[in-house]
Amino acid sequence: MHSVLAPLVDFRLSSTGALLVVLYGVVIGGAFGSFLNVAAYRLPLGMNLSRPGSRCPKCQRPIRPWHNIPVLGWLLLRGRCRDCGAPISPRYPIVELLVAVASGIVVWKSLVPALENDAPAFAIDTIAVVLRLGLIYLLFTSALLEFDGSPLPLRLNLAAVLGLVTLAILVPELRPPQLLSNGTLPPIGILAFPLAAAVVLGLLSWPLLLLPPSAGFASAVARGALLVLLSLVLGGMAVMFAALAAAVLVLISILVQRGWPPAGRLGWAAMLLMVTLVWFVIAGPYLGSNDTVIIGDAFIVPDLPWRTLVPVGVLTAGVVVVGRLVHGITIRRTTKSTP
Ligand SMILES: [Zn+2]
Repeated sequence: MHSVLAPLVDFRLSSTGALLVVLYGVVIGGAFGSFLNVAAYRLPLGMNLSRPGSRCPKCQRPIRPWHNIPVLGWLLLRGRCRDCGAPISPRYPIVELLVAVASGIVVWKSLVPALENDAPAFAIDTIAVVLRLGLIYLLFTSALLEFDGSPLPLRLNLAAVLGLVTLAILVPELRPPQLLSNGTLPPIGILAFPLAAAVVLGLLSWPLLLLPPSAGFASAVARGALLVLLSLVLGGMAVMFAALAAAVLVLISILVQRGWPPAGRLGWAAMLLMVTLVWFVIAGPYLGSNDTVIIGDAFIVPDLPWRTLVPVGVLTAGVVVVGRLVHGITIRRTTKSTP
């Protein structure tokens, strides 16, 4: 009798329980992947995101609900429209699968450790997981838009930044506890480091943010806003890691592809997305701890930030300069070789 009740009294997530939670995240992620496919298609066209429902781009007939099930729907249809037989791009199930896997990683590294926390922290940790998933979905949408050569949604990204800052000001539990007890720093001051880190790195990466596809000032600001969001949701340390690693990936990409292609390839947002997922795997154990800060800095180390920001900034700037130089050389070579 006692052995049966024991798991209920002592709330500890069993490995089966953890697996179920991760699976839940994967399923939710697949559904969001399906939505992001629609968003990436409709945003550049200025269409409503929810209406009309999904339909075949060729014959315009609505897609049946059971064929709309992420990944499985496409497999059931064997990649063709049920009504007119037009091929449905494998891009849709691939994106759904990638978003599902990414959501699984976030839930596994973030929600599972949070579930083992004390009850009071649980509500805040849940908000944190929702914000982290939101960040990943915004990065996915941006990566898809860049892939299609479409401009990034500047207003949406800026609204997200404003929303997060407002949330951090309104909800004290969402801010660094170390600084809360201090009480001398106003909310905006607490947000200063992650914001400063993002702005400095954004300015240093400016030449990369201006790279095609969808080059131009508005797009560069929209890409920069992604850095600020990343900094607010995951902290200043995460944004430093992500900006440097993404710049290195862009440089490698320029070297491999001999230049930065205009569209149809992975762009800057995709690089940022990849390194953010790597960050989740590396920083996983810290993300669900009671000391976790939700908005602001997940890794407040009092005397570390500026000493880290300077070398990371210099490195990022170096990588950016080399990237632009290589990009310039390859572009000049290709224009010379074509008659
Ligand atoms: Zn059709």
